Amino acid sequence: MLRKILFFICLIIASASQAQNKSLPVSKPKLVVGIVVDQMRADYISKYSNKLGSGGFKKLAMQGYQCRNTHYNYVPTYTGPGHASIYTGTTPAVHGIVANDWFDRTENDTVYCAEDKSVKGVGSDNYAGKMSPKRLLSTTITDELQLTNRGKSKVIGISLKDRGAILPAGRSGDAAYWYDGATGNWISSTWYMNDLPKWVKDFNERKWPDHYLSKPWNTTLPISYYTESDPDDSPYELPYNGEAKPVFPHDLPALRGTSFDLVRRTPFGNTMTKDLALAAISGEELGADSITDFLCVSFSATDYVGHQFGTDAIELEDTYIRLDRDIADLLQYLDSRIGKGNYLIFLTADHGAVVNPQSLIDKKLEAGFSDPKVIADTVKYFLQSKYGSSEYMQSYLNDQFYLNRAKVDSAKLDICEMQQGIADFIRYKIDGLQDVLTTCNISTTEYNEPFRNKIQKGMQPKRSGDVILLFSPGWTDKLFGNGKQGTTHGSPYPYDTHVPLIWYGWGIPAGATAKAINITDIAPTLSFLLNIGIPNGCTGKVIEALAK
Ligand code: ZN
Ligand code: ZN
Ligand code: ZN
Repeated sequence: MLRKILFFICLIIASASQAQNKSLPVSKPKLVVGIVVDQMRADYISKYSNKLGSGGFKKLAMQGYQCRNTHYNYVPTYTGPGHASIYTGTTPAVHGIVANDWFDRTENDTVYCAEDKSVKGVGSDNYAGKMSPKRLLSTTITDELQLTNRGKSKVIGISLKDRGAILPAGRSGDAAYWYDGATGNWISSTWYMNDLPKWVKDFNERKWPDHYLSKPWNTTLPISYYTESDPDDSPYELPYNGEAKPVFPHDLPALRGTSFDLVRRTPFGNTMTKDLALAAISGEELGADSITDFLCVSFSATDYVGHQFGTDAIELEDTYIRLDRDIADLLQYLDSRIGKGNYLIFLTADHGAVVNPQSLIDKKLEAGFSDPKVIADTVKYFLQSKYGSSEYMQSYLNDQFYLNRAKVDSAKLDICEMQQGIADFIRYKIDGLQDVLTTCNISTTEYNEPFRNKIQKGMQPKRSGDVILLFSPGWTDKLFGNGKQGTTHGSPYPYDTHVPLIWYGWGIPAGATAKAINITDIAPTLSFLLNIGIPNGCTGKVIEALAK
């Protein structure tokens, strides 16, 4: 009997300690690497699959966990909001990064999402350095890591684009570094530091932009292999400034002028970003001790090349083939330095991109171009004829009309009536217009319809417009060059919202799911994987297959 009782006591103790082990994991990854590929559509990995190596994207996809049905759950699908939403686990309605540029009602001015006139550049004395995360209104997963670890984690953001480096690193990041195309240097701001660390200065001294711009850009593989793309000389591609045709080889030394900026719009901008990320890992000894560090890397060249040449250009395909090799380098470096299984990676994108609307039209598909000037003039005409002044309109930005609230108030006019008047007037006058919403509607209605719901989640009263336009699928603002070249993004449609999401490394099983996942689910999933706080404005949910 006694033996039986003892046996049961042992069982109880054993199961209690097992339960404890489940809720209190003993190990943590040494380093988390968040990779954002700017403008990467979810279909690119399979589209380019035959041309990719085994150590880059495919390694992540095959050995990691793919969330194949991951979408943005708000509009506008731009870079600033995208990076902020990945890292805060919420949408612009809460984190406040409603666009790249918006009219700020508090400051009564158009502002840029990362600009901060109160700080100075470090390594730069021009506008490019006056940047910080001060406009971010809720915490990031990287902030939560710092809060949990009493600031002992190292958090670094790196991207050609200031916003791609700054927003992921959060307000408490140790550093963000971005590229200054005027000088060819990687820079930061006094928000983070007063002087660049030696490893960044050393990196700048190696003059990589000169190196990359000193020879023509040619395809990695023989050009006839690029069967996944349109012919090189396509009317839907925008030639570089100074180029007669958008074709290989692109003569970078002749095209660069005196600036260093062109490197952004070549795949070498990504290679340089990867090399700076490797330098950061060694220079900052990321992942060297038991306290988890976080490196946020955003590859922006894919977006610049995408805007320039479109989603179906050989130029874009070659950019992904080269990025695949850069990612393979990064994985190899992490394996050798941090050790396989000691680091956790997630890879996603800040938005997708539309197939060039003119190419859709030429294939008999419905698409089109809207002209912001015509739209703004239509509303000005309405305001002039109905209210006696077109100046009630403050600006037209991000498909939103901002009304001059002070002027409307002083004229004792009803703002909701004016918003509705504009909406009713333009609804049937503008080609390609799918829907028009007003902030008065939005503040009193909870939308379930998917596209209206995405608009609602992207709005923040002090930063968003009064009247919001939604164009039909396949429609964009006039594009670049002749107005019909390249591509863009920003809509609530799958081509802009559907992005890759792959998890790899520490604690991640191999697998895949087609379950619907929102971009806002990444941050809370990280909170559970790392056992740290959930970002304070989080509206996402944990991906249960990964974090139980
Ligand atoms: Zn972007
Ligand atoms: Zn081309
Ligand atoms: Zn873009």
